Amino acid sequence: MINLASDLDGTIYKGNELIKGVEETYKLLIKKKVNIIFTTNNSSQSPDVLKLKLEDLLNHKIDIENIITPLKLFKFYVDPSKYKLYVYGSNNLKKFLQDSNYNLTSLEKSNAILIGRKDDLDVNEIEKIINYVKKGETIYCLNKDLTYPTENKELPGNGVVVKIIEDSIESIIKSFGKPDYFYTQYFSDSKIKVDYVVGDRVDTDINFAKKINAYSILVTSGVSNFLSEDSADLKLNSFSEIIPFII
Ligand SMILES: [Mg+2]
Repeated sequence: MINLASDLDGTIYKGNELIKGVEETYKLLIKKKVNIIFTTNNSSQSPDVLKLKLEDLLNHKIDIENIITPLKLFKFYVDPSKYKLYVYGSNNLKKFLQDSNYNLTSLEKSNAILIGRKDDLDVNEIEKIINYVKKGETIYCLNKDLTYPTENKELPGNGVVVKIIEDSIESIIKSFGKPDYFYTQYFSDSKIKVDYVVGDRVDTDINFAKKINAYSILVTSGVSNFLSEDSADLKLNSFSEIIPFII
């Protein structure tokens, strides 16, 4: 069986709209027994919410096992009983973690920090976090995306805060997003050999493909890239053009 890992935002849909031709292509790939794994750095929506969104847009049942998100990997790799967790992020993120049995607390009482995304940058809070990490507290982040796409523009993502902290502590924060450690580790731990990766971002999708030795297909239907697009094995306009290269 062929395993194809496809990004979501900018590849399958943009905001709440499916990209042209994706539904037909998706159904044809399924018919040809291609296993499609959805790989996203979206951590503001739970895997269940993404499943419903995909089913609605694609008019097709989706197996939740085939949706890989930073939140799913956080649950997979981090035992809820291990940490008293301080979360920098939205109320949605905090609720998801509490519902998943994580013990959330204040920075003062925490023994680990998780960086998610907040709509407004909170400089005071970031300063405090840096002080705790400098004293040796464990820190994780959900992803390192510098921007994330919305309906009509790109906004600053988790990566902005992560970069400020990393520069200040002079070390690398472990991330649950593409193309970082836990994300690639998950595929080897689950013994899933990905043959193709399709996505719109060089820094996440194409670099992820390289790390797991998959054939990388860049689509130009999403963001504009700050890294060279020449590193992709193949460059196409959109997901709807991939068929001849895969089957
Ligand atoms: Mg994308």
